[in-house]
Amino acid sequence: MSHKYVYLFSEGNADMRALLGGKGANLAEMTNLGLPVPFGFTVSTEACTRYYQDKQTIAPEIVEQIEAALAITEKSAGKKFGDPANPFLVSVRSGARASMPGMMDTILNLGLNDETVVGLTKLTNNERFAFDSYRRFIQMFSDVVMEVEKAKFDEIFEDVKHSNNCKLDTELNAEQLKDVVSRYKALYRKEKGSEFPQDPRVQMMEAIKAVFRSWDNPRAIVYRRKNDIPSDWGTAVNVQSMVFGNMGNDCGTGVAFTRNPSTGEKKLYGEFLMNAQGEDVVAGIRTPSTIDELKSTQPEVYRQFAATAEKLEQHYRDMQDMEFTIERGRLFMLQTRNGKRTAAAALQIAVDLVSEGMISKEEALMKIDPRSLDALLHPTFEPKALKSAKAVACGLPASPGAACGRAYFTAQDAIEAAGRGEKVILVRLETSPEDIEGMYSSEGILTARGGMTSHAAVVARGMGTCCVAGCSEAAISERDKTLKFACGKSYKEGDWLSLDGSTGNVYGEALPTAEAQVSGNFATIMQWADEVRTLHVRTNADTPHDAEVAAKFGAEGIGLCRTEHMFFDESRIPAMREMIVSKDEASRRRALGKLLPMQRGDFKGIYKAMGGRPVTIRFLDPPLHEFLPTEEADIRALAQEMGLTYEDLLHTVENLHEFNPMLGHRGCRLAVTYPEIAEMQTRAVIEAAIETRQETGFEVVPEIMIPLVGEAKELEFVKNVVDETAKTVMQERGVEIPYLVGTMIEVPRAALTADKIAEHAQFFSFGTNDLSQMTFGFSRDDAGKFLDEYYKKKIFESDPFARLDQEGVGKLVKMAVELGKSVRPNIKLGICGEHGGDPSSIEFCHNVGLNYVSCSPFRVPIARLAAAQAKIAEKK
Ligand code: ADP
Ligand code: MG
Ligand code: MG
Repeated sequence: MSHKYVYLFSEGNADMRALLGGKGANLAEMTNLGLPVPFGFTVSTEACTRYYQDKQTIAPEIVEQIEAALAITEKSAGKKFGDPANPFLVSVRSGARASMPGMMDTILNLGLNDETVVGLTKLTNNERFAFDSYRRFIQMFSDVVMEVEKAKFDEIFEDVKHSNNCKLDTELNAEQLKDVVSRYKALYRKEKGSEFPQDPRVQMMEAIKAVFRSWDNPRAIVYRRKNDIPSDWGTAVNVQSMVFGNMGNDCGTGVAFTRNPSTGEKKLYGEFLMNAQGEDVVAGIRTPSTIDELKSTQPEVYRQFAATAEKLEQHYRDMQDMEFTIERGRLFMLQTRNGKRTAAAALQIAVDLVSEGMISKEEALMKIDPRSLDALLHPTFEPKALKSAKAVACGLPASPGAACGRAYFTAQDAIEAAGRGEKVILVRLETSPEDIEGMYSSEGILTARGGMTSHAAVVARGMGTCCVAGCSEAAISERDKTLKFACGKSYKEGDWLSLDGSTGNVYGEALPTAEAQVSGNFATIMQWADEVRTLHVRTNADTPHDAEVAAKFGAEGIGLCRTEHMFFDESRIPAMREMIVSKDEASRRRALGKLLPMQRGDFKGIYKAMGGRPVTIRFLDPPLHEFLPTEEADIRALAQEMGLTYEDLLHTVENLHEFNPMLGHRGCRLAVTYPEIAEMQTRAVIEAAIETRQETGFEVVPEIMIPLVGEAKELEFVKNVVDETAKTVMQERGVEIPYLVGTMIEVPRAALTADKIAEHAQFFSFGTNDLSQMTFGFSRDDAGKFLDEYYKKKIFESDPFARLDQEGVGKLVKMAVELGKSVRPNIKLGICGEHGGDPSSIEFCHNVGLNYVSCSPFRVPIARLAAAQAKIAEKK
């Protein structure tokens, strides 16, 4: 027996999703439940994979199985393919394992040709219906299978309607539809140089191949990448007997949800259209009726439909999205699936299903997509305003939320405008650390360059500020303070812009925004998640404000506090610059002395905001020249301030230049060359902890994190400086407090020698941004330029900076965990890269046994849910 590639609906069930696709598996399940589903069969996803293996052909053994299934289906319908007296018609529908919008459109009424259309007329005594079906089929088949542009058919259809003074498609009579059909066929002939295919078997095989082909169309590839769908899943094809909603006014077609998909309200919600077929309802060709109206027009059908909906919801134990057709007063079910819903509805439904006793709390948690929670944490545009607005450009949806404000082109201008009480959109070619203040002052950020992990994107996500990055349609002149989009519209300083950070859309007008509502359901779900999860969730926060936001979202501590951001502040950067350009230790110590009280103050603020929860402080990390002025005017000003000559300072700045700053004099290398920096930072950390303990009673246990260690001796050296300093400080203050010293694992060598490093480290935190960058050997600031080609050529399926590369980088993480534990069994383990907020990466972190993930404040709720899901999945 050859391998089975084709399954009758009666042979499948809902658990066979991987093989039959979502649509096929659910058609089978409904068939088994005894619901009225038109007969049919599914060509499996394995057949799709085979199709690609066989150089885009369908193997003879599969053709044979299709023929056999078709014969059974024909028999059950009592009709035959191509039989002029009693023609059999089918739909050919794609259906992958996960629902994938953008895959191939369905073809209806397949099997019609010049002969069978006459047969169908006689059989139904309804010529109008027969030709309505034929014109639909010719258009769908030509468009979807043969790639003749749909618009060309629409043009003809509109023309026929117009010349017959008809507004609606239903007003056309049989003669007029015949006219449409012959013009469609002429169009096909002209476009393809051959007649429209008449043989139903050829039509069917061509349609099946087209479904397989559609698995690899560019839309599908992009969608898969965005939704973590592997390309080797393939799609299934469903071939199903047609039922007709377009036979007259006792017929119709519709879609409905068992609960309201935008609010979650428990009430049948949907629409239908009489005398219509397929997508007519959603295509907006006529105004549909609400499902409630069916109650009065066809009470019996309504009753049956409502009962079916209830049965399906009980069976699947989730809100269902259903498609149905009414043929001459008889109900047929054509599809059911777990319905897509807004985040708010998802929470409502999950909580309701638990209280209705239909599912357990754990099942409820599994039903919510953690990523969708994002929408509940940021402002949104008022839906009405958004609907009528037209985007002037589109960039990368770098940081979600909605923002509306006036355009300003420099950080300084943004700060000043915000100071005047204006709402600001900061428009930059790209942002750099000097823009931080301006970014804080803005409602939203728009950049022309950079990817999803560019400076603007990462910082904006951290702040929870809306950001559209890498908008290549925008030509920005920072000097002239103007902005021009590819569409031709241009804007100047002070003009209104609105940004949608969730879609990447840019609007050239002021759109009203609404603050995010965190409802009671949200808290309930979070509480359930916390009861289940074992992985802790911390946050990356550099300021007391970020720390407060994160604590409100449930952060259990700070996993990464970057100290350098504190020095970019206008009032502080002079002291920082002074420290950097100092020529000897004494003057460096003098400058550090000025920074000490500022750092101590920052740390106290953060400790207090976290209320005694653990705080990991990372010592100075970036290349020093990032702090230095680059413009001549700024250098002159600084030189004057410091009593240096311009040339002298310029020389220093030039000396600090590095060819590869990310691989340069940074991280722990700074503390190795200038131990006094680590001394000052240790002093600030410990003094702040002592004072906070005394002032608040919080039992602060600071965790000092040394970045960029690649060699155990580096850490040993810096740790000595830390320990010596801490000892001195505690003696001075006459108190002893506990503290930890650990390191980031972000250089591949650190992962490889983690056992050696663990001898000196009380904790590891995986800095997976740098670790990914160094493992792959490409810069995360530039990778955007070529990654697109990698996706297109299927070398990469997802962005390794957004989703942890478990195969390579993950292997290093695993290795470091094992080596670290072999030396220090109770070593604390966490992750603080961008991946700490990505659900699939969080599952990985849970599984390799990390103690916590740390992510930006606005990702904390997402991480809490994802951590719970990882725990639940592990139990199964
Ligand atoms: P999608 O995945 O885009 O919803 P479907 O395969 O569900 O595509 O089909 C598109 C439309 O055609 C739906 O309205 C569906 O109900 C209708 N349809 C599909 N198969 C049949 C059939 N055998 N008889 C009548 N209508 C059908
Ligand atoms: Mg459908
Ligand atoms: Mg790093």
